[in-house]
Amino acid sequence: MFGTRPGFLLANAPPFVFMRVSRNENRSYRIDYISESCQAIWGLTPAEVGDDLRLLWSRTHPDDAPAMLRTMREAGARRVEWAGTFRVLDAQGGYRWVVGRGLPRDDLAETDTWSITVTDVTGQMRAFHDLQMSEARFRALAENIPGAIFRYCVHPDGSDEITDMSRGCFDLWELTQEQILADPGPIWAMVLPEDLPAMQQSVADSGRTLTPWNHMWRIRTPSGTVKWLQGRGQPHRLANGDIVWHSLIFDVTEQRNKDEEIRRLAEEDTLTGLANRSVLLKTLETALARRLADGGSGALLLIDLDHFKDINDALGHDGGDQYLRATAQRLRAVAGKRDLVARLGGDEFAVLAPDLGDPQQVGLIAERIRIALFEDLPIEGRPLSSSVSIGTTVFPADGATSGALLKHADLALTEAKTSGGKATVAFTRDLDERRVRRKTLAEALRGAIAHGDIETAFQPIVDTATTAHSGFEVLARWTLDGAPVPPSEFVALAEETGLALPLGEVVVTKALAWARRLEDAGLAPGPLSINVSASQLRHDGFATFLAEALQRNAIAPAGIEIEVTENVIFGRWATRIAETLDDVHRLGARIALDDFGTGYASLIHLRRIKVDRLKIDQSFVRDIESDPDDAAIVRTIINLAHSLGLDVVAEGIETAPQLAFLRRSACDLAQGYFFARPTTRFEEIETYLRGALRA
Ligand code: C2E
Ligand code: MG
Ligand code: MG
Repeated sequence: MFGTRPGFLLANAPPFVFMRVSRNENRSYRIDYISESCQAIWGLTPAEVGDDLRLLWSRTHPDDAPAMLRTMREAGARRVEWAGTFRVLDAQGGYRWVVGRGLPRDDLAETDTWSITVTDVTGQMRAFHDLQMSEARFRALAENIPGAIFRYCVHPDGSDEITDMSRGCFDLWELTQEQILADPGPIWAMVLPEDLPAMQQSVADSGRTLTPWNHMWRIRTPSGTVKWLQGRGQPHRLANGDIVWHSLIFDVTEQRNKDEEIRRLAEEDTLTGLANRSVLLKTLETALARRLADGGSGALLLIDLDHFKDINDALGHDGGDQYLRATAQRLRAVAGKRDLVARLGGDEFAVLAPDLGDPQQVGLIAERIRIALFEDLPIEGRPLSSSVSIGTTVFPADGATSGALLKHADLALTEAKTSGGKATVAFTRDLDERRVRRKTLAEALRGAIAHGDIETAFQPIVDTATTAHSGFEVLARWTLDGAPVPPSEFVALAEETGLALPLGEVVVTKALAWARRLEDAGLAPGPLSINVSASQLRHDGFATFLAEALQRNAIAPAGIEIEVTENVIFGRWATRIAETLDDVHRLGARIALDDFGTGYASLIHLRRIKVDRLKIDQSFVRDIESDPDDAAIVRTIINLAHSLGLDVVAEGIETAPQLAFLRRSACDLAQGYFFARPTTRFEEIETYLRGALRA
């Protein structure tokens, strides 16, 4: 149904009804929506009207129905606007006169859809009919009736004249009575040239068949105003061969404007002019029904800008709006002619491709969208761009109702966003299960963090040449129902669900407490390498928190090292994170670049952030002996680090030959199962350290 605004507009104009109808599979028209004011005309509430147009139509006066049906059919066949004055049955069992108007909506993909307005003109028409009955009342009534009432006469020789008229005619045509009565020529001349042939035809047809004249056209008045007029007239043939019409003409300009406005509010997103959610749903339903019937496929894509909040913050509200409008234009340009582009609110858009030749095409559409939206947009003189997350569905395979499909597309979109954005995710059935699992897991993680059930494992880092102990990497551990949850999984989950900060605090707090205990036992653990995530570094209290935790445990800042991955440093919060890392540096702690080689490694970036150490990712170390490429990469990273004055740790050493290779390549430090596995048992760490110190 309607949103609040159109409803409000209509509340002020009760005898004016707006509805939208579309043709369904059975070729009959369905009412997509109808304004509450239908009650004022038909005496039926929208619920009573239902969604089948036939009920409403059955209440059209039998004398008017055939002509109106013809008008509508003819307009329908040519997809042009229709209008007419006719009677409908009201609640009291009587008839009301209405002016109806229908506008085809070609902008909606694949649907045969019409915006229809119905205005109650009973008062005017009753008066008009009285006039035809009683000549005596003409003068009295004609003066007081809005709209133009006149007698129009066509003589057998084809000449025409206006023989009588009401005061309303002067308002309508802006001419004096003398001007009009002398010669109807000026009135004809006002008809817009493109509307003239149809207008002449309608009068001629009515005169020839002696059926009511019912027509809508435009005029340009002497003052230059363009008006929409709707006229109805009953022809009679006089004994002398004259044909005379008693005619009533309404100025329907305002109705048309109001109609446009209401239609816009009901169907369009006001900011971008794209279709809104309700139109998307309706169109989707139609497309879905068609594809179910013909066995074809369509696609629904949901698109969300990854950084719109930042853009909005940077540009302010107006700039943000401008960005959204530009995005809408780009989407429209890249979408196919038959595709529907909608804005669902905020920075979320949808593209509906009603008919795909091949379901695989959905990937191409997504790719085209991604490319189109990624180009820089000059907004207020600044080039801006945003990556997008896209969730795709193909129907009917991914959902046989519009509700299910939208939900699934949304699920795919959420998956794309939570994987860090910049991604297209196609819906699959297991996404749903994953979502449920993730939700329960997130709840459990929240509890584990609150109850201190997150443990820290220590894994030694040793000198490559001598295998002497150097320090520990601290790794978070979580056991749920007796089974360990992989850190890669719960760390990512914490990032997504806003738990990264408390998780990180638990890890730092526990690790430093252990460091204290070890030092107290005379077992200096060496620097602890602590992994931190983007959200921790984005938080401006991070360096302060670290300083306090160090102080509380009386650990020197040099006793810790922060491990960050390249993706963290070069991601969307790069500037903010660089500042935090500077603070960490000033504190006296060191910074290691983790998983080096797996992200967007760039030497320029390396210069921007002051790091002290590179950690070669274990994926390069694994095949160091068998894969010459990996061997070359490892050697290159080591040389690069050394030439930049950094030291290097190789991760994931599991075999003696791997260690031998690293020694030959002058890698400084090593870490891996070959030396020791990470352990959460304090005694094991103590025992290990005792042995290490003895050696
Ligand atoms: P990472 O920082 O690269 O940690 C090294 C990973 O390699 C650890 O995996 C460790 O158990 C594993 N590893 C060590 N030696 C070997 C070996 O010889 N062979 C093999 N195959 N693996 C080895 P883990 O503990 O599963 O952690 C995975 C990732 O989770 C870590 O990668 C780190 O990025 C992240 N992570 C772990 N704890 C935390 C934490 O407290 N905070 C944050 N933000 N991330 C953490
Ligand atoms: Mg690490
Ligand atoms: Mg690593």
